Amino acid sequence: MRAATLPVRPIRHSGEPAYAYCARIGATNGLKTLTDCGRVFGFRSFEIIQGKALESVAELACQDIVALSFDTARTAPDSVELRGERLFRKQWTIASQCKVCPMCIRQDLAAPEQFRRRFPRAWRRTHWDIRALDVCVEHSARLIDACEACGDKLSYENAAVGRCPQRHDIAQFICEAVPEVETIGARYILGRLGFVNRIASAFLDDLELGRAIATMEAIGRAAMGIERYVEEASRASSGAIISAGFDVIQGLSERLPAVLDGLVGMSAQRPWRWGLLKAYGEFYEWLMDEPQSAITDALRAGVVAHAQDSDQVTFKANTSVAGVVIASSKYIPLAEAAAECDMGAERFRRFCEAQSILPTARLRQGESAKISRAFLDQLKDMIAECFNATELEVALGVSSAAARAIADAGLVDPIVSAEQRRELRFNVALFSVQSVRRLLDDLAARIQLGGEDLIPLPKAAATLRFATSKAVQLVLSGRLAIRGYDGSAPGLQAFLIDRCDLSKAIGQHLSDEFVPISVAADQIGIKGETAKALRDHKLLDATRHRNSLLVRRDTLQKFVDDHVTSQSLAAKGGFGSASAATKQLKKVGLTPILPVELARQAIYRRSDAEAALASWQQLKSGAARATEH
Ligand SMILES: [Zn+2]
Ligand SMILES: [Zn+2]
Repeated sequence: MRAATLPVRPIRHSGEPAYAYCARIGATNGLKTLTDCGRVFGFRSFEIIQGKALESVAELACQDIVALSFDTARTAPDSVELRGERLFRKQWTIASQCKVCPMCIRQDLAAPEQFRRRFPRAWRRTHWDIRALDVCVEHSARLIDACEACGDKLSYENAAVGRCPQRHDIAQFICEAVPEVETIGARYILGRLGFVNRIASAFLDDLELGRAIATMEAIGRAAMGIERYVEEASRASSGAIISAGFDVIQGLSERLPAVLDGLVGMSAQRPWRWGLLKAYGEFYEWLMDEPQSAITDALRAGVVAHAQDSDQVTFKANTSVAGVVIASSKYIPLAEAAAECDMGAERFRRFCEAQSILPTARLRQGESAKISRAFLDQLKDMIAECFNATELEVALGVSSAAARAIADAGLVDPIVSAEQRRELRFNVALFSVQSVRRLLDDLAARIQLGGEDLIPLPKAAATLRFATSKAVQLVLSGRLAIRGYDGSAPGLQAFLIDRCDLSKAIGQHLSDEFVPISVAADQIGIKGETAKALRDHKLLDATRHRNSLLVRRDTLQKFVDDHVTSQSLAAKGGFGSASAATKQLKKVGLTPILPVELARQAIYRRSDAEAALASWQQLKSGAARATEH
């Protein structure tokens, strides 16, 4: 059948592409495939599919070539032109996917037949071949690309548009309804192509359609948290993605920060360890590759502003985001920061480490450490709010040793704990100003005016050879009263106490907490000189107060619990005497904690002694049995 043999032909619809129209002419004339049509009508189907050699179709169907070309996409290796708009080749699905709206097919079939001929009435919309469009905006329905009955892929080769390759009737299929909000992106695209009323978009209208679609997709994926690195990627439809993207683009300045927050929230899942790629992932990759335009400028400026504001986003100083430089002001070199805080760089580094604000993991080799400006400002505030050791002495009005003892007693709070400082070899003690004020306030709250012979607390303690820190503790525990206050004196010197009060309080405190070593010896069941020998060999803790040695009551109790003398062992084991017990038990390996020559008496660790006694008794009963037999 050549063109001369004029085939019976239906009328072409506006928006019906040449290849689909040819197929419909073929179907009208009993042909099954597009390839058959080409063979019969004298054209190459692949050319028609690419929108080439349309003259033959125009001639065949007496069509206006201009109108036919307008509705038929012309494909080039990397682009597709349709209705005066340009798409990327990969955005065009022909030959890879064939989508159809079942509702449109149903509507076509219901349309009145103009010429009372049995023409195939279902026709293909050229925009069904745009990959991003998976919805029919007219019916708010999802397009299908496979037969609901047999599962076969639909094909442009099939001349019967309303049928699957196995001839199942597509018009009978139930459509998936698509919410209105997921069709806005499709509406914008169809508006650009003149199929529906055009929606204006300040950012997208200047871009060619293909780039506008790619932009909607990239922003939509970012807005929906869809990314190749993210494990739980939602299976969002293309319609939903481009609509989400379009929505963000239409209100870019308000909506972009939230989208970027979302991306930063997913950064843990990305493979990079550092930087803007880690923070913004696939979206950032896309943005970096995009040519410059109003929207990419706005997006880059948005990313820069977001990165500068966010504490979670790291980047090198003077990072350039495609021409937009991220100011270095966010991070400053450690040495500079140290100088601002009046500290040496190394000391400052340790201090930052102790505060765990040094971004060690973010450092690359050879890169000098930087800390964020925000952290530095916080630190400066904090440092302004703390005392170093000298300042602490002045604030407390005491000697450096007394100040240290007060700090060691935990009466003021260190900024970096002593343990942490040892670990970090950070040899600067810093104390919270707040805690010093709190201590002075606590003491002031205990003023009970009265008494005579009032002297400043540190001085009173010194004359009694008692530590100031302990005197403060006596006040805080209610054993010592503050009798006067001298507002002109610094720190603790403002608190006046009665020397007699202090003396009594010390005595009370001592008898509450300590016993003389002779009393301790009695309780242990040893001679006083043995107790002193134990103390000299650091086996029994005792403190010297003036001329006497004192043992803390709890220390004494623990010693009594943990130790046993040879006398008590003799009684317990039935040895004749202490020395017999010492001699016999030595045979089963029992040795005193201090040699008898030094201690004059044998004292054993209770656990050792009990074990030895048990093995001694076993030995003895074994020997007894041996004699019986
Ligand atoms: Zn439809
Ligand atoms: Zn089928």
